[in-house]
Amino acid sequence: MDQIRIENLEVYAHHGVFPQETQKGQIFVINAVLHTELKKAGMGDDLALSTNYGEVCLFIDDYLREHTFLLIEAAAEHLAKELLLRFPLIECLALEIKKPHAPINLPFSSVSVHIERGWKRAYLGIGSNLGDKQGYIQKGIEGLKENPMIRGVKCSKILTTSPYGGVEQDDFLNAVIELKTLLTPYELLDFLHKLEAEAGRERKIHWGPRTLDLDILFYQDFLSNDPTLTVPHPDMQNRKFVLEPLDELCPWQYNPVTGKNVRQMYLELNRSGKIGEVQEEVQ
Ligand code: ATP
Ligand code: CA
Ligand code: CA
Repeated sequence: MDQIRIENLEVYAHHGVFPQETQKGQIFVINAVLHTELKKAGMGDDLALSTNYGEVCLFIDDYLREHTFLLIEAAAEHLAKELLLRFPLIECLALEIKKPHAPINLPFSSVSVHIERGWKRAYLGIGSNLGDKQGYIQKGIEGLKENPMIRGVKCSKILTTSPYGGVEQDDFLNAVIELKTLLTPYELLDFLHKLEAEAGRERKIHWGPRTLDLDILFYQDFLSNDPTLTVPHPDMQNRKFVLEPLDELCPWQYNPVTGKNVRQMYLELNRSGKIGEVQEEVQ
């Protein structure tokens, strides 16, 4: 992706573990690489279509002067997040904070931290089969939209599905949601649990009735087989109510565990005539 680069921006600020650092302050040197599409701004010769690097520099200067952190790790982490929230065209960034006058009684030119942060695309399964199912799904989607660390929320069509997993219960409404987030996979999972709890979800029987169920199906190219968070979702290839809406949003998304993309898994499941039948589309 295209980049805007800021090199050796000097900021006088007060970060540090030692009292003389927070009292007197010192120079910090910032390097930033902002990954963003520049084609439209380039073709249109229009600053409104780009990210104003002057504003970014002022923002970095203000932020680092107005906040005090013990560690440059913390300064970088918080500054990266605030930049990504404040400048929406930046997809991801690399940020380096150097401390050329760090209190080290040895000859050196600088110490620094370097981090890379950005918006990650995730796909969630959303389902309900208890009470006001459509209402719970809508509230779940609103909850996602209200979180500033989440943006670009898009929902597939909502499907009515027979229950899965052998427990006698009411039909499900199911859909898939696409979003971008600054939350890590585990932070996203915690937030989904919070939304489920707000919908009054009680965990009684595995695969039993629930007001709201939110599963992480994909999180960018993140791979995990931790039972607390298994990604890609380990059972997606057996679930038509997951693959059909996923196929609507991201047919080419590749699952490295099955070695197939969504379209391939969906066609294969359809051919096999297995469980997870979708009955109809909800209007
Ligand atoms: P399934 O995951 O087979 O659809 P379920 O959604 O009914 O089953 P839950 O009772 O909602 O299962 O979740 C049980 C636990 O699964 C959660 O507490 C969570 O830690 C864990 N889990 C593992 N991987 C994921 C994932 N990708 N998304 C959501 N939860 C996950
Ligand atoms: Ca589930
Ligand atoms: Ca779940």
